[in-house]
Amino acid sequence: MFVDSHCHLAFAELADDIDGVLARMATAGVGRVLSVCTRLDEFERVHALALRDERIYASVGVHPDTTGIEEPTVERLAELAARPRVIAIGETGLDYYRLPEPLDWQRERFRVHIRAARAAGKPLIIHTRSASADTLRIMREERADLTGGVMHCFTEGLDVARAAIDMGFFISFSGIVTFKNAGELQAVARALPLDRLLIETDAPYLAPVPFRGRTNEPAYVPHVAGKLAELHGATLPLIEARTEENFRLCFNVL
Ligand SMILES: [Zn+2]
Ligand SMILES: [Zn+2]
Repeated sequence: MFVDSHCHLAFAELADDIDGVLARMATAGVGRVLSVCTRLDEFERVHALALRDERIYASVGVHPDTTGIEEPTVERLAELAARPRVIAIGETGLDYYRLPEPLDWQRERFRVHIRAARAAGKPLIIHTRSASADTLRIMREERADLTGGVMHCFTEGLDVARAAIDMGFFISFSGIVTFKNAGELQAVARALPLDRLLIETDAPYLAPVPFRGRTNEPAYVPHVAGKLAELHGATLPLIEARTEENFRLCFNVL
């Protein structure tokens, strides 16, 4: 089966048509998804979907771009992470692209998530944009290697990918890797070992070719796998099997 390692099923674009989203997913051979939390006041909706359907897993975390919200604490995150079907902490990380400095609060929030992941014994879902040096530095300082996890929607260079892999992380590619102008990223995906790769949609955003501009959904994740197969000179079933196995290892699920 294909596994969408990162999507946002609780966002209205998908939640409003959840039965259709799940039906199209089944038709496309996508057997599991990790539905990712972006703010604490969204968590109950994310979690309810995971309780309702055994193909859906949940995470708990506050996205680095989310402002004007209740800041999470280590205790609160660890407590919610102990709920059934919650398999990861995130998405968390650093994003210097959208918001201006000073971003000390963002770096502190990231540290809180890593501490919570260690306390809960769960892997991390890390988002990094225009902030890779600080992201890796904080991962090292807070010992993110003790939990591992995934660098999601990866768009950085090979050196960043290798540094994360050295800390036990997996690298997840989204529909961006299928874009015509993504030559550099495709070279990174080609250079990484298959036993460290995951696939995701990040739906409802970033629909892969040939669906660019449409609302993205988990049913489209085989198109990301198809691009990785092309880049690695591998068959689609091989990429499907390897990324499923990597998902199990990354998130400690059977
Ligand atoms: Zn993200
Ligand atoms: Zn996301």
